Amino acid sequence: MSLRRKLFTVAAAAVVVGGVGVLLAQREYKSGVVWPEPPVVTPAPVDKPGAPPSDAIVLFDGTAESLAKNFKNGEKWIVADGAATVKGGSIETKAKFGDIQLHLEFATPEKVDPKQTGQGRGNSGVYLMNRYEVQILDSYENKTYFDGQCGAMYKQQPPMVNVCRKPGEWQTYDILFESARFDADGKVTKPAVVTVLHNGVCVQNHFELKGGTFYDRPAKYEKHEPTAPFHLQDHGNPMRFRNIWVRELKPIVGKEPEKKPGEEKKSGD
Ligand code: MG
Repeated sequence: MSLRRKLFTVAAAAVVVGGVGVLLAQREYKSGVVWPEPPVVTPAPVDKPGAPPSDAIVLFDGTAESLAKNFKNGEKWIVADGAATVKGGSIETKAKFGDIQLHLEFATPEKVDPKQTGQGRGNSGVYLMNRYEVQILDSYENKTYFDGQCGAMYKQQPPMVNVCRKPGEWQTYDILFESARFDADGKVTKPAVVTVLHNGVCVQNHFELKGGTFYDRPAKYEKHEPTAPFHLQDHGNPMRFRNIWVRELKPIVGKEPEKKPGEEKKSGD
């Protein structure tokens, strides 16, 4: 065989081997898990970003009826112009929730009393599972302890940034919450985790709670049911709320493929 022919043969073989390699490398990976189809959800219209998606549980749609129907004590708050103003105690959801996405809008009082400072100005709070408080406060040019300002996990973690709007302006909270898990003895097997977007800006990123939030004692876990109500705090300020909805978060669970007898998982699979 001439040198030229030998070189051609080697080159052709390399092309074939390379091609097979490419084909092998491109073989599609399939996990074998059988997934149910994710349900179709219609999102909020693009010009109404805070509106509830189609699968949301709407807890307050701007009417007194919805507030009274979905919250204990809801009939005491004053509903006008699509907003509910705090009066006569905290309100607590009648329904119980576990892992949720929660949207709500709030406004701190427009008229600022100069005598009210720090925790006394525009104070409320979202008490997830009635025990983990995402602080609501007028923190616009109003200093207080950092782990007690707006967007804080009360006395556990300050917000990463202060993104408060001015008194009287509407603000949004979008909260992702995973409940704590406990074993039969009440020991925490997975702490509660919370992510908070305040006015669309992340202020808590997957924060692991140290337990319930308290004013007068350190955080501590106490075993509770997998679901519980949440409440909105009456701290004596005429706070306004509107557009409150939740979505229950349930990861889709797939069915693992059945293993044939004697079939071992190969390394590298
Ligand atoms: Mg509070």
